[in-house]
Amino acid sequence: MSDCHGCAGCAVAAGPPRSRKALPPHVVAIIGPPNSGKSTLFNRLTGLRQKVANFPGVTVEQRIGRARTKTDREVIMVDLPGVYSLSPRSEDEQVTRDVLAGQMKGIPKPDAVLLILDCTNLGRHLVLAAPILSLKLPTLVILNMADDLHSRGGKVDTAELASELGAPVALISAAKGDGVEKVFQFMEGTAAGTTSLAAPKVELPVLQDIPRCRQWAHQVGTGAAYQAPAPPLWTRRLDAVFLHPIAGLAIFVVVVAGVFQTIFSLAKPLMDGLQAMIQVSGQWITDTMPPSVFRSLLVDGVWHGVGSVIVFLPQILLLFLFIGILEDSGYLARAALIADRTMAKFGLQGKSFIPLLSAYACAVPAIMATRTIESKRDRLATILIAPLMTCSARLPVYTLIIAAFIPEHHLLGPLLGTQAGALLGLYVLGFVAAIGTARLLKSSILKSERTPFMLEMPPYRMPTLRSLGLRLYDRSKIFLRRAGTVILLVAVVLWLMLHLPLQNGKAPAIGDSFAGMIGHSVEPVIKPLGFNWKIGIGLISSLAAREVIVGTLGTIYSVEGTEESAGLRQALQSELTPGGAVALLIFFAFAMQCMSTIAVVRRETGGWKWPAAQFAYMTALAYVCALITNEVVRSGVLTIAARL
Ligand code: GDP
Repeated sequence: MSDCHGCAGCAVAAGPPRSRKALPPHVVAIIGPPNSGKSTLFNRLTGLRQKVANFPGVTVEQRIGRARTKTDREVIMVDLPGVYSLSPRSEDEQVTRDVLAGQMKGIPKPDAVLLILDCTNLGRHLVLAAPILSLKLPTLVILNMADDLHSRGGKVDTAELASELGAPVALISAAKGDGVEKVFQFMEGTAAGTTSLAAPKVELPVLQDIPRCRQWAHQVGTGAAYQAPAPPLWTRRLDAVFLHPIAGLAIFVVVVAGVFQTIFSLAKPLMDGLQAMIQVSGQWITDTMPPSVFRSLLVDGVWHGVGSVIVFLPQILLLFLFIGILEDSGYLARAALIADRTMAKFGLQGKSFIPLLSAYACAVPAIMATRTIESKRDRLATILIAPLMTCSARLPVYTLIIAAFIPEHHLLGPLLGTQAGALLGLYVLGFVAAIGTARLLKSSILKSERTPFMLEMPPYRMPTLRSLGLRLYDRSKIFLRRAGTVILLVAVVLWLMLHLPLQNGKAPAIGDSFAGMIGHSVEPVIKPLGFNWKIGIGLISSLAAREVIVGTLGTIYSVEGTEESAGLRQALQSELTPGGAVALLIFFAFAMQCMSTIAVVRRETGGWKWPAAQFAYMTALAYVCALITNEVVRSGVLTIAARL
């Protein structure tokens, strides 16, 4: 069912095997529009011999993998970001251009190119062939989704197309594996240096001139007797429901609520399980090793420090599983179209919606999910506001303080009590702050023309287990690598700060430790908020991760002996005034107390500028609002209002 024409590689496929060592690596770039099947082909060619990294200096992700031809030649495959053209309007296009021109540091100039196009959408996708073929690199034009084209009655004459383009053309199905051997044969040919480019019959249009490229693509398509397939009947039927002004909106709300709820409820037992495993294994180490400084560092610092972050893995994987299912099935594009109308009111795009939704679980995957937003400014605005959404790490802090300071009364009859109401209020507060900040950013430094919503509506497809599995594998790898580096370092440093300087060869009381000294030194600054030095240590240790404050305060009080007699809640009540307690809630709602978020923002924005500005903004907002809160509660305004 798959054809290959003009592929010079076929002729040399049977050549003798060559020694790998003697040959320099053969570099092949995969390029194509979004959703053309690049990743599917890349995964099929390389299997798990791949790694994900960022191109130097930019946020664009690259995937590099290794494939091996039948002649045992190793090929280095570079999966480039999805683009429709090579005009450097976006970072993705710039990166693609630089890599193909051999101007990207660390990546040798590709010896050959696999241009992959969705043949069910050839009219649009062929436009990219003009700039790519004009680079005069040996190029295989891959028409992917052959299965879909045939089953929906579409047609294309590949021999004619090959001669129009002056390049070999292979009709394949990357998902099913049909015709993939043609790709290997092509790479064998280019590796052996026997593939050359014939002159295209059609004069290639001026590359920057997109309308001319479109005209050219249309002409080439007609020449190759291309017949676009009919949109699948069920895609049209499903769209009538999913994009319906009322039914579509209702389904959207149900899907969103369902995802949100499932991430929490499904992740909880998994997270509890992981937590228990970390506790039990930590205890086992404690019981097995003789007491020593090293044991304390290993158990309290490394095991529990890194463990407290690893427990979030199930939540992150679930989130990416849902994003994967929604995206691969084609629903995400429809959801974004529906959300676009609402998000527009705040100057954001519909595509910001999924990342912001996922920020309720955790800002880290949310920020990684902003990669789907093409507009650089919109993506940045979304990254900057994501940590204001109430992430799950705030929950332990909120719950503890609310339980200690807010007496339980009915608020809305039996439906909602004051404690749950306060919690809900904090969620709303985070959301309002995020939206307000978005408006501020979009009307000032990140002002941009509102780009027309140009998301291609892909047909609905059944997500493949392979694609979902690889997504999760990728994410786990990235997440665990971070836990093993940045977070490990923070945990060790914190432990050291709490145990040094030694006094008579022993760890000092917490008040005399470096952490304690820092707590005392920040006390004057945080006193107006109603916080003392112990809260100060908690605030500083919780820079690593918000929930750390709960553990830190527990440790401080247990060392002092207050916790045993009164419990953490009562200990807090004696430590904080009501004003200070509410101020602490407000502080945590706004402050960017999370190293992982800072690290991921730095990674995604390619430098320290944005995370530094974001940290300063959020901390200032947190400080000022906490200060006002403490003053207001202290001056009794609320008490008076309550009496009235
Ligand atoms: P990319 O954005 O170019 O990397 O595209 P992906 O590899 O993620 O593929 C986009 C979607 O098309 C996924 O849902 C794939 O499962 C699907 N897909 C890829 N190749 C084929 C194919 O040959 N036939 C069909 N029917 N679907 C495919």
